[in-house]
Amino acid sequence: MKNIGLLRDDVYLRHVPGPSHVETPERLIAIHKAIDETFSGTTFTKITPRAATFEELCWNHLPDYVKKIEQTGEEKNFVALDPDTVTCPDSYYVATLAVGGVFNALDAIKDGAITGGMCLVRPPGHHAEPDRAMGFCLFNNVALGALYAQKVLGLRRCLIVDFDLHHGNGTQKSFYYDPNVLYFSTHQYPYYPGTGGCHEVGSGDGKGFTVNCPLRAGCTDEDYAVIFRDILVPIATEFSPDLVLVSAGFDIWWQDPLGGMRVTERGIGAISRALIDMAEEVCSRRILFVLEGGYSKEGLGKGVVMVLKQLLQGEEFKDEIEVAKSLLATSSPQNARHSIQDVIHSQAKYWGCLRSFE
Ligand SMILES: [Zn+2]
Repeated sequence: MKNIGLLRDDVYLRHVPGPSHVETPERLIAIHKAIDETFSGTTFTKITPRAATFEELCWNHLPDYVKKIEQTGEEKNFVALDPDTVTCPDSYYVATLAVGGVFNALDAIKDGAITGGMCLVRPPGHHAEPDRAMGFCLFNNVALGALYAQKVLGLRRCLIVDFDLHHGNGTQKSFYYDPNVLYFSTHQYPYYPGTGGCHEVGSGDGKGFTVNCPLRAGCTDEDYAVIFRDILVPIATEFSPDLVLVSAGFDIWWQDPLGGMRVTERGIGAISRALIDMAEEVCSRRILFVLEGGYSKEGLGKGVVMVLKQLLQGEEFKDEIEVAKSLLATSSPQNARHSIQDVIHSQAKYWGCLRSFE
């Protein structure tokens, strides 16, 4: 069994974006329950939350924006920052703990105290832009994690892989001109938030360091296995990052109320396996999964448990690991064939590894 870090804390239940919001604390309660039913209390190395400071938040967000979110903590009621994104009096504090919890997990990874981990945080982050709350997100947890790794831990090159159903417009925006942070996303398209076309490849020095895989609804476990095997792993190996951060969104689940994908536990297993084996190869398994979306309680519970099994790689999970490996080895595209060709066509001029597929 590998030594895996897990950030899980009831404090993340205290962000409540309104009485009938889909991004509800119940999501985390379902995940905690699924973990307790599968693993013993001592399976994981505990990662604790901490509050990110105002200065740390300003690495990715404008000071006026951080102040605006901070001020929502002084309101007695809910504050709607956009039609989807609502805060309660505890939201600012909880959001700073989400970011700081990711920092603590990264410290443990850099120290070698853990060989990979997962942060079960709320609110999610990948839609949050430098000056704008969006799509249930306040601060961009993963973008700030990449900046912490660079500024504090001395890890220069970071790969961010975003398999949430939605495109991470905020993360893309933060690093669009940056050749040291490669942003790779699979997402349903066209769909919220509207960004993430193949032609969005980065700009200036960052050209080629944004890799978007827009997918139509209906993609399967096999489609995701092919994309991660034939596009993500070769590009990641060529990029050779010092750290892999994963925006883990479970709204690709086949029964997710917001999504149209057909991914099951097998697909989540294959995606995780591809990412973990790649991270083992290129950066000594420095990999951290961070929770983003996912609105089916069953999908969240089963999805997170599958990621954790693939991380732990224990003998008792050998069946799940074999299924993931065989899906990666044998899959061919089903509904993503054209999307895959479009991505390869858009990216082959930046990545030599893709030219043989053209
Ligand atoms: Zn999502």
